[in-house]
Amino acid sequence: MKRRVGHIVLAVILFCAVLGKMDFRGAAETSARIMAGKGMLRLVAETLEHPKVALTFDDGPSKKYTPMLLDGLKERGVQASFFLMGKNIEGNEELVKRIQEEGHLIGNHTYNHVQLNKVSKLEAKTEIEKTSNEIYEITGVYPVYMRPPFGSWRKDLDLSVEMFPVFWSIDTLDWKSQNVDSVMNIVEDQIQDGSIILMHDSYASSVEAALKIVDELEGKGYEFVTVDELLIV
Ligand SMILES: [Zn+2]
Repeated sequence: MKRRVGHIVLAVILFCAVLGKMDFRGAAETSARIMAGKGMLRLVAETLEHPKVALTFDDGPSKKYTPMLLDGLKERGVQASFFLMGKNIEGNEELVKRIQEEGHLIGNHTYNHVQLNKVSKLEAKTEIEKTSNEIYEITGVYPVYMRPPFGSWRKDLDLSVEMFPVFWSIDTLDWKSQNVDSVMNIVEDQIQDGSIILMHDSYASSVEAALKIVDELEGKGYEFVTVDELLIV
C-alpha cells in the first residue's frame, strides 16, 4: 500500500514536472513571438520614420538673402521656420507673403530685437504684439511661436495671443563666423533626431550653409520639418 501511494506521488510529481516544462516552453515561445513582433514593428517604424530636424532663421526678412534661401528651399521641397523682426517687415511684405505661401512657418522675433527680460513689461508686450499684428496684416494669421532674442523668455506678459517660445539645440554661430565650413562642422558634430538648428537669413554664407546642410542631411535620411512638428511630439 505504501509503495502504491509512493508510485502515485511519484506519478503526480512527474506529471507536474512535464506540465511545468510544457508551460515553460509555451511561455518561452510566446515571448519569443512577441519579441520578434516588436522587432518587426521597430524595423517598420525605422523604415517609415526618418529622424526629423528643423532649420530656423532669425532676424529676417532680408530683401537680399531671404529670396535666395527661399529659392534653394523650394528647389529641395523643404520647409523651414522664420522668426521675423517687426522692423524688417516694412517694405518686405511680398516676401513675408511668399514665406507663408511656400509653406514655411512664420514666428515672432520681437520688433526691435530686444532682450525681453531687460525691458519693462509694457515694452516687452508692445515689442511682441506690434510684430504679431504686422504679420497678421500680411498673412491673416497670428503667429503663436516666438523666438525670444538671446533666448530670454519671460512668462509674466499678459499677451492677447498666447505665444510659445521656441529655443534651439544647435547654435551654428553663423552670424559670428560667416563661414560655411564652420557652420557645417558645428551641425555635423551635434545633429540628432529632433535637433532645432539656429541660423540667420542675413548672410550669403548662411544661405549657402543652410542649403548644404539640407543636401547632406537628407542624404543621411533626415527629414526637414517646421518647428511646430517637433514641439508637438
Ligand atoms: Zn536674433
